[in-house]
Amino acid sequence: MSVQLPDLPYDYDALAPVISGSTLRVHYDKHHRGYVDNLNKLIRDTPVANASLEEIVQWAARHAAADRKAAALFNNAAQAWNHAFYWLSLRPPNGGGPTGALTERITSSFGGLANFSDAYKSAASGHFGSGWAWLVLDGKQLKIVTTANADTPIVHGQTPLLVIDVWEHAYYLDYQQRRAAYVEAVVDQLLDWEFADRNYAKALGQPAGEAAQRSGTTGAR
Ligand code: FE
Repeated sequence: MSVQLPDLPYDYDALAPVISGSTLRVHYDKHHRGYVDNLNKLIRDTPVANASLEEIVQWAARHAAADRKAAALFNNAAQAWNHAFYWLSLRPPNGGGPTGALTERITSSFGGLANFSDAYKSAASGHFGSGWAWLVLDGKQLKIVTTANADTPIVHGQTPLLVIDVWEHAYYLDYQQRRAAYVEAVVDQLLDWEFADRNYAKALGQPAGEAAQRSGTTGAR
């Protein structure tokens, strides 16, 4: 069994003019595919040869410190996972802002949608070097976090809701070194807030259900 490259959820040109078709072709066909291909070579003859991508990421994270091959496996597996999540975090321009229960939560956590937007742009633009800027649920708290290189919140007990790729390969063809311009356009026009809201609802639903069972109540959920 091997890990499959997931289909891009839209056409190559669907995110233009914010992200061009040229960028998506290189980013998806070369970078994302490259991580998946490397990963499939590296998992041969390991205990995770038949595991799911998320299981591979978690296993490699636990072994990376002591084992150079596991570290390489982590980098490629986490990049494969992060890119699949990134494509789903975007949608064609101007699909609308935050929706559902997440809107109120963002407003109360960040002091308004405009403040959230500023904070997210600033974290993504200001992250040093290659990496990722995430909106996550950490326990019950909504947080903006950045990770370096291939690192991913799923190995830090956090639940990702949205991500922006801030590796240069994500924006260099369209924006050259101007990461802030890329980030601003993505936050203002491309984030798929319905995807974020579904992730939020799913993350909150499970613990609430368990809590209701433990307390023996006939919970409303
Ligand atoms: Fe990338």
